[in-house]
Amino acid sequence: MYESWDTDFIVKMSLDQVNLLIEEARRKFPIEICGGLFGIINGKEVLVKKISFLRNVLASRELFEVDPEEFLAEFIKSEREGLQHIGFFHSHPGTTEPSKIDLKFMELWPGTIWLIISSLNRNIAAYRIVNGKLRLVYIRILHV
Ligand SMILES: [Zn+2]
Repeated sequence: MYESWDTDFIVKMSLDQVNLLIEEARRKFPIEICGGLFGIINGKEVLVKKISFLRNVLASRELFEVDPEEFLAEFIKSEREGLQHIGFFHSHPGTTEPSKIDLKFMELWPGTIWLIISSLNRNIAAYRIVNGKLRLVYIRILHV
């Protein structure tokens, strides 16, 4: 699938948030971790304010599926806090490349940000499906 940089969106997150995701991915390795991302969308900028770890109901090293009840509870709670659902994250024991199954789910949630964390090399990458095409989303790490 064609990959190019998303010019419409950038994700801003703190170094602490990135480290939290990487540490948790390594702690649960090789099981994939997963969850929701909540924050504030301001024009082209998406600021991550909350990382919600959700149970991977598949407890798999190749697949993930967030617990739907946990997700709904976090979604409602976050809306009350004035935060929008901006995307999902999950880890891979391998690279940050989306799998074929990931791409299928991504197509069901067009415009949503998908963060993939590699517990192999501590890389992190963000993607979006825009007009049926996979785009890489730039992540700006805030050193606060
Ligand atoms: Zn995946």
